[in-house]
Amino acid sequence: MSAHHGLSSPGAIAEKGELDVETIRRDFPILSQRVRHKPLVYLDNAATTQKPRAVIDALLRYYETENSNIHRGVHYLSEVATEKYEKARERVRGFLHAESTSEIVFVRGATEGINLVAQTYGRANLSAGDEVLISAMEHHSNIVPWQMICDEKNARLRVAPIGESGELDFGAFEQLLSPRTKLVAITHVSNALGTINPIRQIVQAAHRLHVPVLVDGAQSAPHLPVDVQSLDCDFFTFSGHKVYGPTGIGILYGKAALLDDMPPYQGGGDMISSVTFEKTIYNKLPYKFEAGTPNIAGAIGLGAAIDYVQAIGLQRIAAHEDHLLAHATAALEAIAGIRIIGTAKRKAGVLSFVFGEIHPHDVGTILDQEGIAIRTGHHCAQPVMQRYGIPATARASFGLYNTIAEVDALAAGVGLVREVFA
Ligand code: PLP
Repeated sequence: MSAHHGLSSPGAIAEKGELDVETIRRDFPILSQRVRHKPLVYLDNAATTQKPRAVIDALLRYYETENSNIHRGVHYLSEVATEKYEKARERVRGFLHAESTSEIVFVRGATEGINLVAQTYGRANLSAGDEVLISAMEHHSNIVPWQMICDEKNARLRVAPIGESGELDFGAFEQLLSPRTKLVAITHVSNALGTINPIRQIVQAAHRLHVPVLVDGAQSAPHLPVDVQSLDCDFFTFSGHKVYGPTGIGILYGKAALLDDMPPYQGGGDMISSVTFEKTIYNKLPYKFEAGTPNIAGAIGLGAAIDYVQAIGLQRIAAHEDHLLAHATAALEAIAGIRIIGTAKRKAGVLSFVFGEIHPHDVGTILDQEGIAIRTGHHCAQPVMQRYGIPATARASFGLYNTIAEVDALAAGVGLVREVFA
């Protein structure tokens, strides 16, 4: 097994404009599998992405040769593990273009990133009558943590509506901003609709009233170049497993001044600089928010995943996925009875649809028999389903390794569904 396998191949093709998808696919061992006696067509990337050999190797290497606890030992392995963990933090800083690694907190994933802000910033800053403003296209993980803290504080959750195409009603959003608003929490890209939200505009509007903005980047980090300084958002969170990295690791970015003012999330080892029974002094950023032994292997694996996608280039990944999405949209629109849910002008990576009266679950089951993996259900966004008056959708979501042939297989599979139900 070569330590560099998977890093060299995308780098080698970086000169060309288009992705050499066939070469990339060889970096992902799972993709060569057959499932249900058919070649695997993996179109459930919004749920989680597959892992390149470079990430798998980084995890293996860590446990085989580097495993040790970090920030504590004077011995060799502890130094190696600590250095690798902190290097991964630096990679994430570069990936998000944050100013400093002290603004990069390792968490379990986007869900934990949002809960951290709700339980620290929210608890410290919300009082009775205050408001948190979200949108109608949020994932449950950007709804429920706010409901919990609003309930506790007698604060109010406000929801900016979306139009029929799945775009944020920006005028309504602006009207909902008021001196009562203490935080805006909004998704960058909707996992159910694919809509890309105008984050800069949202941040500018919120900042005019000195309201900080948390961006749920779970679906944008894998598909779009992200620059937290240029977006000027106050918090940004994403999950490693959706950017070709391991599960159980994710990132919360926060502006240093805000993080500094926030109370810690959890208490324990590593988040302190000194403890007596009378008084504990908390550690500096970002360690104040990293209590206990973290997911060291996960962080290192995430660093390898970031190296991998950056070697290819987020712009090129975005262009490739746009091409897949446009092709898939046209192919499905051509099938009588298909209704696409989410037709925003700016979309990324996701194609949600319903097919006449056929239940999305049946669509998914028939496609599965063809080796095609899609998602069916409410996608942890039940209010989005309620908005469209449907119980569920079928959702194909694309990643950097998907091909036009796979999109064609999806369309052919959907054609088969019609035959079954004819
Ligand atoms: N936000 C969005 C938009 C998502 O799509 C998801 C996952 O599907 C999440 C948050 C939660 O991510 P995780 O379950 O990795 O914490």
